[in-house]
Amino acid sequence: MQNPRIVVDLVKIKENIDFLSKRIKKNNDISVTAITKSFSAHPEIISVYDACEEIDYLGDSRVENFINNQETSKEKVLVRIPMISEIPEVVKYTDISFNTEIEVIKKLDEEAARQGKQHRILLMVDLGDLREGIFEEEELFSIVEEIMTLENIELVGLGVNLTCYGAVIPTEAILNQLVKYKMQIEACFDVALTMISGGNSSSVYMLEPDTKENLPNGITNLRIGEAFVLGRETAYGKDYQEMHQDVFTLKTEIVEYKTKPSYPIGEVGVDAFGNKPTFVDKGLMKRGIVGIGRQDVDHTAITPLDSRLEIIGASSDHLIIDFTKAKDDYQVGDEVSFSLDYGSLLSCFTSEYVKKEFI
Ligand SMILES: *Cc1c(COP(=O)(O)O)cnc(C)c1O
Repeated sequence: MQNPRIVVDLVKIKENIDFLSKRIKKNNDISVTAITKSFSAHPEIISVYDACEEIDYLGDSRVENFINNQETSKEKVLVRIPMISEIPEVVKYTDISFNTEIEVIKKLDEEAARQGKQHRILLMVDLGDLREGIFEEEELFSIVEEIMTLENIELVGLGVNLTCYGAVIPTEAILNQLVKYKMQIEACFDVALTMISGGNSSSVYMLEPDTKENLPNGITNLRIGEAFVLGRETAYGKDYQEMHQDVFTLKTEIVEYKTKPSYPIGEVGVDAFGNKPTFVDKGLMKRGIVGIGRQDVDHTAITPLDSRLEIIGASSDHLIIDFTKAKDDYQVGDEVSFSLDYGSLLSCFTSEYVKKEFI
């Protein structure tokens, strides 16, 4: 059993990491947190990141992914706010966690005391993207004040997340606000904030040679997920020519290949997902089914590498493709390959039915 499977080119991903991490480090004293959630922190890929000198930290949103990779030499950063119910594992398996809630931070402190540890935290500030982060300046300062009284918590920095929920593009002005908070907090409290984390793959464009927005001095860390794996910055969605966009390929197998009408026969009700489908009558077509479905991947988020093929639709386990333009070039048992975007990469790695192959 080998299909469906996602094929990962470990040489290409290494070249992507080398190129971009060197660019980030070139003229800047910036640490790199490689975000590993898009490939569920698969140990084969983690070992490539582990071997890269320019990477300082591994970051993920799921504690499980750290539990599965305890032997890595990099420090581990939990980039999603901890659930109170997972705090024992957060303290045990991660070095730094991102936080916004004083109740959670106090519980981290108690747990760290119990485990005889110091736990480092970074406070997330919301500068307009409206996902996680402390929004009010007053709240930021009062939380820092309380943190200063906690014996087993060390505040190491501030961070911001952009272009995730609100799709706000990072600018010098936005990131300067983060640096300003750092300076105010350092002036008010006896603390040195060394990790000022200025965003994710959408901040990478600010390091390009000819950019009008430059990454401000004072930003000391970036968290890079998508740019490493898909070879592009995400503020404007530009592919980098020096990087590979095809590290990952999804391979599926044809289980049925027949000539059929394009319009269903009989009264049309609702489909398996409760939607009423619409159809265009294109007459007879060559229709093929490959063995993958919505349980594994959103069929609108994958693209056949053979441009003659067109995805018609999918149910939970069947993906239907119009092969009319390819005629007799395919038969039952043949493989059909697809490129992936960020969302389909995530879901294919999460599906245990999609096998993982490394070349
Ligand atoms: C997922 C995530 C990242 C990585 O984002 P990319 O756009 O993939 O680089 C960075 N920071 C946080 C907080 C995240 O949740």
